[in-house]
Amino acid sequence: MDLKSLIRDVPDFPKPGILFRDITTLLQNEAGLRYVIDQLHDHHVDAGIDYIAGIESRGFIFGAPLAYRLGAGFIPIRKPGKLCQAVYSVEYSLEYGTDKLQIHQDAVQPGSRVLIVDDLMATGGTAAAAAQLVDQAQGELAGFAFIVELEDLGGRKLLPDVPIKTLVTY
Ligand code: 5GP
Repeated sequence: MDLKSLIRDVPDFPKPGILFRDITTLLQNEAGLRYVIDQLHDHHVDAGIDYIAGIESRGFIFGAPLAYRLGAGFIPIRKPGKLCQAVYSVEYSLEYGTDKLQIHQDAVQPGSRVLIVDDLMATGGTAAAAAQLVDQAQGELAGFAFIVELEDLGGRKLLPDVPIKTLVTY
């Protein structure tokens, strides 16, 4: 399937000079949505995944159906102030300033295998922070899965040495 034809390119969003890869057009295409979940399922079906950790918010959209298909649990990795129980927090750098992600301290059965899912990897900073959270919660990081990888930004270099699956690269 030609996924690039289902992903909309939006110039100058959210800021001038940024070319935003909009996955809402992929989501609204029933064959496209089914295809990406099936691809990620088939790739990980024998990987012994216990939990999908989805990164707020587009990681939830892809992560939850993938968890369902793999027979895994789903863990939300969220922006500050959204989770209602004790959390671990990780601060990470953005182009300007910093941001924070959180996970429930009791989200993971210690030692269980966690696959981190998001829609897109750019610099890798967000996914690297998610990996630190899984580590703090005593999960075993099984890998990362993204629909889109922006290859030129070299995000893989920031991530721990575990398998990384992406379906489209720009
Ligand atoms: P990173 O931390 O790898 O630089 O940025 C990745 C995060 O920013 C992901 O959570 C992703 O959803 C969001 N993001 C950055 N650029 C884009 C983009 O062009 N399209 C989409 N859909 N998300 C983006």
